[in-house]
Amino acid sequence: MSIAETETGPPAWRLILGYVRPHRWALLAGAVLSLVTGGTGLMLPLVARELIDDLSHDRAITGWLVLMSALVITNAAVGALGSYVLRRTAESVVLGARRTLSSYLLRLRITAVDRSEPGDLMARITSDTTLLREVTTDSLVGLGTGGLTLIATVVMMGLVDPVLLGVTLAVILGAGTVLGVIVPHINRASRQAQDAVGVMGASLERILGALRTVKASGAEPREERTLHAAAEESWRQSVRAAKWSAAAGNTAGLAMQIAFITVLAAGGARVATGAIDVGTLVAFLLFVFYLMSPIQQVVGAVTQYQTGAAALTRIQEAMRLPAEPAAAPAPLPSAGAQPASVAFTDVRFRYAEDLPYVHHGVTFSVPAQGMTAFVGPSGAGKTTVFSLVERFYDPESGSVTLDGRDLADWDLPRLRAAIGYVEQDAPVLSGSLRDNLVLGNPEADEDAVARVVKTTRLDGLVARLPDGLDTLVGHRGTRLSGGERQRVAIARALLRRPRLLLLDEATSQLDAVNEAALRDTVADVARTTTVLVVAHRLSTVTMADRIVVMDQGRVRAVGTHRELVAADPLYAELAATQFLATSG
Ligand code: ADP
Ligand code: MG
Repeated sequence: MSIAETETGPPAWRLILGYVRPHRWALLAGAVLSLVTGGTGLMLPLVARELIDDLSHDRAITGWLVLMSALVITNAAVGALGSYVLRRTAESVVLGARRTLSSYLLRLRITAVDRSEPGDLMARITSDTTLLREVTTDSLVGLGTGGLTLIATVVMMGLVDPVLLGVTLAVILGAGTVLGVIVPHINRASRQAQDAVGVMGASLERILGALRTVKASGAEPREERTLHAAAEESWRQSVRAAKWSAAAGNTAGLAMQIAFITVLAAGGARVATGAIDVGTLVAFLLFVFYLMSPIQQVVGAVTQYQTGAAALTRIQEAMRLPAEPAAAPAPLPSAGAQPASVAFTDVRFRYAEDLPYVHHGVTFSVPAQGMTAFVGPSGAGKTTVFSLVERFYDPESGSVTLDGRDLADWDLPRLRAAIGYVEQDAPVLSGSLRDNLVLGNPEADEDAVARVVKTTRLDGLVARLPDGLDTLVGHRGTRLSGGERQRVAIARALLRRPRLLLLDEATSQLDAVNEAALRDTVADVARTTTVLVVAHRLSTVTMADRIVVMDQGRVRAVGTHRELVAADPLYAELAATQFLATSG
């Protein structure tokens, strides 16, 4: 399932109105200014008619000239103000959409993230939202003001000469029919162009995230082809959209030229028969000329709308991905808070309906306080246990409880505030070392940071770094070694003073000396906190108060090292072979 395959929602215009509603007054002001601009323009032909009339009767025309100048200046000034207000409003709509989407992405369920391309999601926030700008100004306002100006112009033309209006409308209707065929093509091409941008974002994300491996594998040419293909696809579709947009714009232009010539011919004939005078013909021709701008506005509005609607659909698709409910943040546990107890009862779980079960009825319970180790072959479902405790996923059946209360009944921020989690291959984020440490507890004071730096044996590193704790650690912590990254992740979790500490192979890359030191730290923490560890080192496992042996999504046995060596053949084998090595 990709993002695009989620079911369709409400029509695009309804969604656009949703984004525009908060700015309706600014938009209305912009529209009124545009209307005034259109209105002053519309008055010019009438003044011109009077001017020609006075001129042909040898009357003074100074007054008309002054009025015309005033109209032209007002037209320009109000026009400028109007476009500023509209552009500003459009930017606000883009801002609103970006804020909404950013907040939404942070709330996405991990399931949704598992199944989408981060780069594509990024493109939806950064690039697709930009296209909303055009929808707001050009499209909505263009349709409104252009439409109104169009109607007003047509009414005026009807008043000046209904016969010539009939001629004009016939030409316009012909052009409208052609446009009706062209416009859907613009929508389709725009959608595909934006999808290609999403594909490109996804490829970029993949490549930059694994640039070392790409280089080491000599895979640059292939990855380059992927990127170029996506860029070219976007180019191809944008050119297609441009072709149809150009056709639409020029159809409108052509129609106006034809209308002009037809009116000139038909109007000339009417002047010859004396049905109308020359002043009327000139006024009508000026109206035809003025019709150009609202018609182009309306056609532009419709084509822009197609592009914007395509982008909006992509935005809405992202907003339909499953997300966690919006909730107020929860405070971290106070110092001396009670350790938490955890229990799984007959938990069945799979990552998706089309994937096999990962837990086939997992049952175990961990009392408050002490250390519990999870061991078992790779793929047994140990990491999944931790993911379920953090409620990144929900079990399909059975229950997971914390403090005897089902996780489903917990306020999610409160649940997560109680836990310190060092995930397997925990990432270090770009930023300073300090930023990384206080990520989970921004309020931590200098003393607490210094203490945790010491207990995780990061003090040597901090002393060596040029700016100490404020040294930037690079994208994904690339300036740190694997073992240093692991200690940063552990320190980060400890700084939250959690009631439950989850360590998923958190010391796998430490050398023997650091590992022994961290083992003492964890043993110390386990006196006041419940600690769950996934570990391979026998030294870590033997010091646990209890060991849960997992295999193929089931709990095989629970006990102490001594009990399990005697009672469980798999555990005895693990302990005897490399799998549970004494160190390293
Ligand atoms: P362990 O930590 O014991 O090595 P895991 O809990 O990580 O095992 O994984 C158990 C099984 O679930 C594995 O077969 C793995 O391929 C699968 N799995 C893990 N994470 C995901 C995921 N996000 N989506 C789909 N399958 C997954
Ligand atoms: Mg694992």
